[in-house]
Amino acid sequence: MNMDTTKLAQLLFPQPLKTPEEWEAIYPPRNLPEGAVVTRMAPSPTGFVHLGNVVQGLTSERMAHQTGGVLFLRIEDTDAKREVPGAVEVLINSLAHYNIKFDEGATIDGDAGHYGPYRQRQRAPIYHTYAKWLVEQGKAYPCFCTEEELTAMRARQEAEKANFGYYGKWAVWRDRDLDAIEAELKKGTPWVLRFRSEGSIANKIKFTDLLKGPMEITENDIDHVLLKSDGIPTYHFAHAVDDHLMRTTHVVRGDEWLSTLPFHIQLFQALGFRLPKYLHIGPLQKMDGDSKRKLSKRKDPEAALTYYRAVGYPVASVYEYLLNILNSGFEDWRRANPDAPADSFVFSAKKMNPAGSLFDEAKLRDTSKNVISRMTAEQVYDETLAWAKENSADFAALLAGDPDTALRALAIGRGGKKPRKDIAVWSEVQDYMGYLYDELFGYTDEFPPAMNKTDAKQAMLAFAAVYDPADDNTLWFDKLKEIAQSMGYATDMKAFRAAPEQYPGSVADISACIRYAITGRLNSPDLCELMRILGHGRSVKRLTDCAETL
Ligand code: GLU
Repeated sequence: MNMDTTKLAQLLFPQPLKTPEEWEAIYPPRNLPEGAVVTRMAPSPTGFVHLGNVVQGLTSERMAHQTGGVLFLRIEDTDAKREVPGAVEVLINSLAHYNIKFDEGATIDGDAGHYGPYRQRQRAPIYHTYAKWLVEQGKAYPCFCTEEELTAMRARQEAEKANFGYYGKWAVWRDRDLDAIEAELKKGTPWVLRFRSEGSIANKIKFTDLLKGPMEITENDIDHVLLKSDGIPTYHFAHAVDDHLMRTTHVVRGDEWLSTLPFHIQLFQALGFRLPKYLHIGPLQKMDGDSKRKLSKRKDPEAALTYYRAVGYPVASVYEYLLNILNSGFEDWRRANPDAPADSFVFSAKKMNPAGSLFDEAKLRDTSKNVISRMTAEQVYDETLAWAKENSADFAALLAGDPDTALRALAIGRGGKKPRKDIAVWSEVQDYMGYLYDELFGYTDEFPPAMNKTDAKQAMLAFAAVYDPADDNTLWFDKLKEIAQSMGYATDMKAFRAAPEQYPGSVADISACIRYAITGRLNSPDLCELMRILGHGRSVKRLTDCAETL
């Protein structure tokens, strides 16, 4: 190429710009201990936060903070068409909600940190410095092709069965002379800046991904766009410039970027930047019939982060479950350390599944039941109330108006070696114990089908007559047995099982109809304690009310 590239650079970028050296001095290497990982999240503010964003965030966050490094947030807002107002706030709040806290970067009120601006659209002068420098070095050139010309090129490539893209003989502006370029510039023809690739698809490069391991990838031969016609960079160019100047050591990103990695490697080389380490994460998958597929924003409600908050999964459950599917050793660690905070687990990128983790909501529910079973009644109450305030105002009012009932009900079976595991999400708490509030009480199950209604009525009224909340569990049950016996029902379960035909039923049937009268259902936590929570008056009223319906 025989061209005055200094002149070309000046024609394309006549505005005053800092030199690369000046930017280097503004963003000096970070002063961090050996081995500290500097990484980032670089989402596009589309308004939709995918569960996969949390996976990426959690992985990056652990890698940075476990090594005494830095996690920062960079907003990739170069595609103005896709931007949704308020999306940055949604993003920051959602990630913070899941314990992904940034040390620096974009915040709701602007930027925090010395390596900003952290919103790409505010970084135009930085990109232009490096773009100009590439032009001066003969490594980039303007292209004046119109959309129509590019579409026509693609059609011809299709007809000729050639590879798609702007390369080789198709790269029509690659070697045009300065006069031709100047003429277009004078006319005001829009242009993009393209990278002058020296690569060939005949060559392979060796590359080692921190997750996927060593691989051989094909060199890039396409003259990709670096700056769009509005002077805003493409992802690729911004990635190289930003991750260099922000002193990123590790890039954790989705593996959809592997296909353009050869171009990124070339770009870092052309710019004289040291290549960061890469960890390309596979997408979250789910089972669909017998096969796995990507968790899809379009098809799967559980792909959206908002889903978990709406259904009422505790943050701790989602966090713990994601750690579990991301790191194969987590489950054993949890068994050995049942009470340790999840972030004291040592996360290792080496233990991730290169193909992507399998997400299974049923397993998340199990994890969540465990997590909730380890919480105190107060925690469960507080979190349920917070959830209800956002999602179920009536229930929230009841909980707030009579916390004692909820706290006592939630305390049942909690704290021991084998805590109850009935609740997986906050939206289930109302069903679990809401019937203790008269406003929510109703007969939700069918009356026990095998039970004789006359006997049931008799048992309910008899129990109402002798019930005393001061009775301990033994006395409470003895009274029930006495009633059963007086009605000819078996109280010795062994004898009953040996000859069930000799009895109308057993004390279990009697207790089932008392449970039904008190809770409106066939299953509940400890009935004696539930009656104590209701107190004498309300317990008796429920027994007599139910007897009346039979
Ligand atoms: N904006 C890109 C994305 O959302 C960022 C990829 C990266 O982390 O480099 O996929």
